Amino acid sequence: MQHFSTDALILRAVDRGDNDRLLTVLAANYGRFYAILKGAHSMRRREAAAAEPFTWSNFEFYERGGVKWVKSATAQETFPGIRYDMDKLFLAAYVAEVAAELSDEREPAGEILPLALNTLHKLSVTKGENEMLKAAFELRAACIAGFAPELHSCHSCHALITGENYLDVMNGALICADCLHRSAALAPLPEFNDLGERTVLVPLTAAAAAALCYVASAPARRVFSFQLTDEASKHAFCRATEAYLLHHLERSFPSLEQYKKTRAMLARIQPNAAKAADEESC
Ligand SMILES: [Zn+2]
Repeated sequence: MQHFSTDALILRAVDRGDNDRLLTVLAANYGRFYAILKGAHSMRRREAAAAEPFTWSNFEFYERGGVKWVKSATAQETFPGIRYDMDKLFLAAYVAEVAAELSDEREPAGEILPLALNTLHKLSVTKGENEMLKAAFELRAACIAGFAPELHSCHSCHALITGENYLDVMNGALICADCLHRSAALAPLPEFNDLGERTVLVPLTAAAAAALCYVASAPARRVFSFQLTDEASKHAFCRATEAYLLHHLERSFPSLEQYKKTRAMLARIQPNAAKAADEESC
């Protein structure tokens, strides 16, 4: 029987039978893997906290019959600020689903693990910034997945971006308004390219483009150290990052859909609360 110990982030926890729980975890050296926790419902409160989703815990595992089992778990960081806020819980689940998508079994976790931990920490300690945190996470995750866009200048004329511009999602590049209007006047942009991919152009302000450029190239610890002050730039930034990540991963995520549904429902039943939340974030 092989034993090993490691810190790991719990991406998912699903009850299995009456008293067991199947954990999906992500560890720096071991990548993403499954492990079974026996007696999950009869654990003492402190131990149980170490087996909750989106918790960073120190585990002892043993392997038997080709299955990994949890011998012990001790919570290192529970990110308490996300636990009683439905928006933050859905976003934490989204972060975990994207981290699972961008990691593999028997492959070191690489940059997606510190990004996920950093995002969970920011979600836990920050108020009114959910949408901006989500957006920065999305763009950086796309870069980690190998889809880093070229954001330093206009892809067509190579001029620095100083005004209205567009993110060409499929090509991962910026195009300034002058170039877009010029090319559209000469030959209207095709709705689909040769590969059948739909052309997606997300309008951006100069500030939103600068923020995208910053997030894509900042040192890992500084990814969230930027500010957008005007609502138009925030909205454009958030719209661009979500479109960019989902297009390049070629899928959506259940937790993201739930997050959006909850926000839409809140906007219908509590328009003032939703408006206040929007003014705080995007
Ligand atoms: Zn241009």
